Amino acid sequence: MDLKRFFIQTFGCQMNVYDSERIAQVLTARNYRPVDDPARADLILVNTCSVREKPEEKAYSALGRFRALKRKKPGLLIGVAGCVAQQEGEGLLARLPFLDFVLGTKELRKIPEILDNLERTAGRACAIALDGRIDPYRELPLFPAPSGPSAFVSIMQGCDNFCSFCLVPFVRGREVSRRSRDIREEIGALSEKGVKEVTLLGQNVNSYGLRTPGELDFVGLLESIEKIPGMKRIRFTTSHPKDLSPGLIGAFGRLSKLCEHIHLPLQSGSNRILGLMNRGYTKEEYLERVERLRTACPEISITTDLIVGFPGEEEKEFQETLEMVERIQFEEMFSFRYSDRPRTRALTFGPKIPEDSKQRRLAELQALQRGITQRRYKAWEGREAEILVEGPSKAGGGEKTGRTRGNHIVNFPGASVAAGSLVRVRIQMALAHSLRGELLTD
Ligand code: SF4
Repeated sequence: MDLKRFFIQTFGCQMNVYDSERIAQVLTARNYRPVDDPARADLILVNTCSVREKPEEKAYSALGRFRALKRKKPGLLIGVAGCVAQQEGEGLLARLPFLDFVLGTKELRKIPEILDNLERTAGRACAIALDGRIDPYRELPLFPAPSGPSAFVSIMQGCDNFCSFCLVPFVRGREVSRRSRDIREEIGALSEKGVKEVTLLGQNVNSYGLRTPGELDFVGLLESIEKIPGMKRIRFTTSHPKDLSPGLIGAFGRLSKLCEHIHLPLQSGSNRILGLMNRGYTKEEYLERVERLRTACPEISITTDLIVGFPGEEEKEFQETLEMVERIQFEEMFSFRYSDRPRTRALTFGPKIPEDSKQRRLAELQALQRGITQRRYKAWEGREAEILVEGPSKAGGGEKTGRTRGNHIVNFPGASVAAGSLVRVRIQMALAHSLRGELLTD
């Protein structure tokens, strides 16, 4: 069989990165090989994100560039996967005549069938079924080809929470947990290939297993992964504050491989806005969970997501968000201006906040967080930390980069240190979003 080449461009979250890796494994099993240059590819796949407007626009402009390549190379196959594919379905084929296939978020297992058909008949294909609680990874071949000492593993897909601003339940479907034995098998295979750190992915990881009779719950899953030989660190994202159980809080500090970091989206500091968002907790409940996390594990680093300018957000409600940020002292924050998304309930809410007000609120929030991050990073100066070395730092010059258990990036001189090593460093200097350290010999 002739060797063919593929190129995948991925937008959006870690789940899309993971899905692209699984698709790459399917293609590799079919005698395709990855290339870095789309001009050399026989198949191009754009794995898209529609959670916000910007990545969606970027995906369309990438497709425009690939269309130009197809004019020069008519046999080139171009497909779209991910959330935009799920959202637009057949409409994408109608709108983009150069597209060959559309692959929905729960239809990854259909890719061999789609390729068979395309190679035989040159007909166009669209697979976007979202019904039922199907594990989209169950029938995929497993040939992990990790690109470094850290890897992602999806443990669940979809979400049943229906936050009023969020498209995920519509484009990823209802919540489905993978079988714990499949997850362990995949992590075991990654460990055999030298992976030292796994990040468990899901839209709402801490409700893992709750809707699957006879399956482990999330803490049970963490305990079972803790026993996998060779795997040194476990992380997970994203957790929902309303499902943060006492058992999971207690797992920090109890499970030695579970890293001291949790990403816990707050979204707003106002109870009225949290209610409109359908988040299922109050700011007081969120604060109480943060306190319990810090009591169970004083070292824990807490990061968050916040949205400014949700429809109807008043100035005093935005001030409440600032107060929560000041009070909690997050390590890092991902903050966004609210934008209307199709099919979500918030689309119908008003009044919409003018863009210039959203921009001002975002700038104020980010300035506050910058100061907090700086102080928290500064507190690391002079301390020692364990680093998992990921590889050469972007700065070059023999510098290496890695992460602490709390997920801080650390760069340090260490020409002879191999990726995948666990080393100890002393932190010398805090920068805006990273630390500089020196290697300790023992
Ligand atoms: S919990 Fe809310 S924000 Fe997160 S994926 Fe589900 S619906 Fe979206």
